[in-house]
Amino acid sequence: MIITRPREWERITDGLNSIDAGSVFIMGCGQCATVANTGGEKEVIEMKAALEQAGYVVSGWAVGEVTCHLGGTKLESRKHHGEIDDADAVLVLACGAGVQTVADSVSKPVFPGLESLFLGNVMRHGVFEERCQMCGDCVLDLTAGICPVTTCPKGLLNGPCGGMWNGMCEVLQDRECTHVRIQRRLKEQGRNNTAMLPPKDFSTKLKPGNVNLRKKRGGDRP
Ligand code: SF4
Ligand code: SF4
Repeated sequence: MIITRPREWERITDGLNSIDAGSVFIMGCGQCATVANTGGEKEVIEMKAALEQAGYVVSGWAVGEVTCHLGGTKLESRKHHGEIDDADAVLVLACGAGVQTVADSVSKPVFPGLESLFLGNVMRHGVFEERCQMCGDCVLDLTAGICPVTTCPKGLLNGPCGGMWNGMCEVLQDRECTHVRIQRRLKEQGRNNTAMLPPKDFSTKLKPGNVNLRKKRGGDRP
């Protein structure tokens, strides 16, 4: 899921004030931002109260089921078109993908209410860790299911680096070195742990990503 955190209040109000917005519609997200406690119904209602306390009129609010889903967000926006028409701006409590989907769905100026941080694993309720940077050329088959690109702070494919000390990471000193973990797990699985990984082909990570399952196979690029 996409991990987000609340945007600084001053940045939100500076944005709204930059267009003299007196009235605001708030859109949250029923998926990742709800799980991250940043853009679910509770946080949307808290944002409504904070905006009203600061003197803004909140014309309405909604929590889209999956705000980065264009069709669903267009439908949600149509359901609330009167409240959105009454607003000078739409504040979106969702990741950057969700903000852009709302911007594609409404004609009003759209402002982000969250900062998008990373693709995160949910370790337990309220605890998230970045495990994958979606590089498009996965090496987990060779690294015993531990991603060196993401979990080594230096992104080293082969390690440990010279700073590893007693098995611990030089950068994140409270964590075991990723490459120590990889080597141990490979050994535990009885696998060859001496092979060097070749340089990664980062051309597979073309931006913006684009996959169209409606096209015939072979016509897409990742
Ligand atoms: S190697 Fe790439 S795709 Fe695989 S987990 Fe790491 S960042 Fe993600
Ligand atoms: S100690 Fe290990 S995990 Fe930390 S930066 Fe060096 S190679 Fe990466």
